[in-house]
Amino acid sequence: MRAFVDQELCIGCGMCTVACPEVFELNVDGKAEAIADTTDDNRNDVMTAIDGCPVGAIREEE
Ligand code: SF4
Repeated sequence: MRAFVDQELCIGCGMCTVACPEVFELNVDGKAEAIADTTDDNRNDVMTAIDGCPVGAIREEE
């Protein structure tokens, strides 16, 4: 599984990069991007990021 951030929706608040810095990073456009796969170790933090995104821009894909 890997998280995917909808670049049109993301407002660059950075919450996901705080919730799960291992997976989310802000790119040069100031939008979040998933830089790593979701693993057993970071799954809870990824879920926290997904649930906490104020605009619902993050989803998980197979
Ligand atoms: S929490 Fe949502 S809006 Fe904020 S940076 Fe992450 S993906 Fe973008």
